[in-house]
Amino acid sequence: MRDLLPAADYEVFLAAFDRPRRIGLRVNMLKITPHHFSSIAPFSVAPACGWDPAAFIVTDDSRPGRHPYHDAGLYYLQEPSAMLAAAFLAPAPGDLVLDLAAAPGGKATHLASLLGGALDGRGSALRRTLDATGLLVANDVHAGRTRLLAENLARWGALNVLVTQDEPERLAECFGRVFDRVLLDAPCSGEGLFRRMEGVELSEAIVAACARRQGGILASAPDLVRPGGHLLYSTCTFSPEENEQVVAAFLAAASDFTVEMPPAIDGADRGQSEWAAADPLIAAQLALAVRLWPHHFPGEGHFLAMLRRREGAKTQMAELPPFDRRPPTSDQYRLWRDFAAATMTLDLPADRLHVHADRLYLLPRRAIALGAERGGRRAHVVRYGLLLGDLRPGRFHPAHDLALALNDADAVAMRWSAGDPRLAAYLSGADLPGPDLPPGPDGWMLVTVDGFGLGWGKRSGGRLKNHFPHALRRR
Ligand code: SAM
Repeated sequence: MRDLLPAADYEVFLAAFDRPRRIGLRVNMLKITPHHFSSIAPFSVAPACGWDPAAFIVTDDSRPGRHPYHDAGLYYLQEPSAMLAAAFLAPAPGDLVLDLAAAPGGKATHLASLLGGALDGRGSALRRTLDATGLLVANDVHAGRTRLLAENLARWGALNVLVTQDEPERLAECFGRVFDRVLLDAPCSGEGLFRRMEGVELSEAIVAACARRQGGILASAPDLVRPGGHLLYSTCTFSPEENEQVVAAFLAAASDFTVEMPPAIDGADRGQSEWAAADPLIAAQLALAVRLWPHHFPGEGHFLAMLRRREGAKTQMAELPPFDRRPPTSDQYRLWRDFAAATMTLDLPADRLHVHADRLYLLPRRAIALGAERGGRRAHVVRYGLLLGDLRPGRFHPAHDLALALNDADAVAMRWSAGDPRLAAYLSGADLPGPDLPPGPDGWMLVTVDGFGLGWGKRSGGRLKNHFPHALRRR
């Protein structure tokens, strides 16, 4: 960086790494408005920036990741620079959006919020996304990280999401050039995160390997973006090899893509065209990319380039067939219906129920085919829509994912405040004794924190049996 930056700039850049890191969080606008959140926030928060009302900075030394509101999916811990990608991509509510390298889900949860439409914060995430016409396909190539991605998206509560685990070229075979907006938040050497992490391994060989990998993933993008569609390339690293040079190579190979002018953002800098040996037409475009420097922008280092494909032949959108749904048998449907009649006040459409491996799912309104239906290969699905629960012999067992998509207006619910000792007991896995419960019949109850779904309990014999997942229980 000393070789790349002007001397005076380099000293300020270096000094920025000695400033304490800031904890950022982005409010889940599918569940709560920023205004409502700031009125109940259990730690002190301040707006993180002028361009996103959902973006906050935690200004005391609390640990927001351990608060029940985090379990209930009211926010995602994310530093402010990382919030810019989805804001730039700015999907419209009806869009078909692909997040190619999405785990653990920071930007995917943000995209899901934007696809939720009007952000009025009324009703649960499920109510808000039940009829959403857009769909987010969130993909990652690593099995463990994709599981984490699916968990974080479940916490977010959005219904209109398909989680896949595939190589990008496989996705291109399955779906084709259909996506309105594609995000490639590429695996990178992570130099921009040095302030947050210790012991990061870095070498020129690692940078070169990352650049090769990024070029490889980007090569699949033209087979996924529709004519006229957008592709946002982003990294959290400074190295020109992984930023300007990768974009320059892409533009040289994919002549129907151009870099678009970014919106004006305070503290954001432009791409450094002289850091890639590109021809003048491409160099002029690299200057439209965005660099977030830690000494100019109130966040960590990032790079973003918004690419747009030229309008062309009619898109394939209208030709995408619907997903081949497997409806429940009449016995399975009866189990669901009995549960829903006793527990739910929100009606879910029967013609979108789907069964896979004895589990019942609710499909998004726009459930697209996975590829095999078009004679190609099938995308590897980790989660499609919302997992409602398990179909066990003679009974239905609701999923934790369902609880996270609901609030206390959607189901028979227990409403405890964040500081209530009964909530603390519930989160630690304890059953609740009768005197702690309001009167009512036996059966499933949604446990909520201040009305936001947190998990399930089952009332029987005067006690509430705890069904909060073992892996999430407090020690
Ligand atoms: N967008 C994520 C977020 O905001 O939370 C962070 C993504 S991280 C920078 C890069 C991700 O790329 C990693 O999760 C990694 O598993 C994934 N990855 C690596 N190689 C990939 C490939 N060939 N195709 C898709 N994803 C890949």
